Amino acid sequence: MEKDLDQIYRQGLKELDVVENADDLQDVSVRYLGRKGILTQFLRNISKLPVEQRPGAGKKANEIKNLLEERLRQATEKIEPRDEAKDTAIDVSLPGRAVACGALHPITQTNQQICDIFSRIGFDIAEGPEVESDYYNFEALNFPKDHPARDMQDTFFITDDIVLRTHTSPNQIRTMEKTSPPVRIIVPGKVYRCDSDLTHTPMFHQVEGLLVDEDISFGDLKGILTTFIHQLFDEQTSLRFRPSFFPFTEPSAEVDILCVICRGKGCRVCSHTGWLEILGSGMVHPALYENVGYDPDRFTGFAFGMGVDRIAMLKYGIDDIRKFFENDMRFLRQF
Ligand SMILES: [Zn+2]
Repeated sequence: MEKDLDQIYRQGLKELDVVENADDLQDVSVRYLGRKGILTQFLRNISKLPVEQRPGAGKKANEIKNLLEERLRQATEKIEPRDEAKDTAIDVSLPGRAVACGALHPITQTNQQICDIFSRIGFDIAEGPEVESDYYNFEALNFPKDHPARDMQDTFFITDDIVLRTHTSPNQIRTMEKTSPPVRIIVPGKVYRCDSDLTHTPMFHQVEGLLVDEDISFGDLKGILTTFIHQLFDEQTSLRFRPSFFPFTEPSAEVDILCVICRGKGCRVCSHTGWLEILGSGMVHPALYENVGYDPDRFTGFAFGMGVDRIAMLKYGIDDIRKFFENDMRFLRQF
C-alpha cells in the first residue's frame, strides 16, 4: 500500500522533471491531482481498505498529495517567466486601435471652396476687424446717421460709435483707403446681427467681394458671379438678377439660383417659388469713391456679398442653420 503511494510519488516527480511549459504542467497536475487523477482515485479508494489500514493510508496519501502540490508550485514558478513574456508579446492578429481623425467644419469647407474659386479668378483675400466703428460699418458705406436703411440690420451696439460689424462690407472702405485701383478682393469673415430663428443666428459668416477698375460694367458683375455660381454648384445652375436696394451700390441686384432641390418645380426649401436667393450685388455707389479719394468719373466697380452658412445649407440640404453651431458630433461627422 505505502509502496504504491511511493511509486505514484516517484513517477510524479519524474514527469515534473521533464515538463517544458505551462501546458505540460497542467497535464501533470490533472493526471495526478485532477478529479479523475491517480492520487485522487487513490484517496477515494481508501474507504474500501480494511479498517485498520485506513488511517495510515489516508495520512500517507495526504502527505504525498501536499508534496506533489508543492513540487508543482515550484515547477510553475520556474516556468512562469517565459509565460509572462508570452502574455505581453504583441499579438499581430489583433485588430488595430482606430485613430480618431478630425475633419473641417462644413462652414469652413464651404468658406474655403468660395475663396478657392475667387482666388482662381484673380481675387485677393482681405480681412478686417469684427469690432468696427460706426463710420466703417455704416457712414462710409453711405448709411448716414438716421438713414432708414440702418434699420435693415439689427445691430449689436457696444457704444454709440462702436458696433459688432453687421456685414463684411467695411473692408471695402478699408481696402480702398489703403490701395489704388485696380482692386480685386474678397473678404471672408464673421458678422453679427441681433436675430435668431431657423435661418438666422446672431453670428454668421459672409464673403464680401469688391472689384474696382476702369471700364467695369454690370456685364462684368454678371459674368463673374455666373462663373462663380457654376463652379460652386454646377454648370446647369440657372441664375436670375432681381432689382434690389443697398445703400452702397447703385444699381443693386439680388441674385437667385434655380432651386437646387426641386430644379424650379417648387418645394418647401424655395417656398414654392422655384428660386433661392443666394447673394446681393451691385455697382459701387459713387459716394463711396468720394469717401476714399477715388475719381468716380474714372473708376467703376461692383461689389457683392453672400452668407456662407446659407450656401452651406443649400449645398448640403440642411434645414436648420443652428445645427451648424450646436457641435453635435452625430451631425458633424457626416461631412
Ligand atoms: Zn425648390
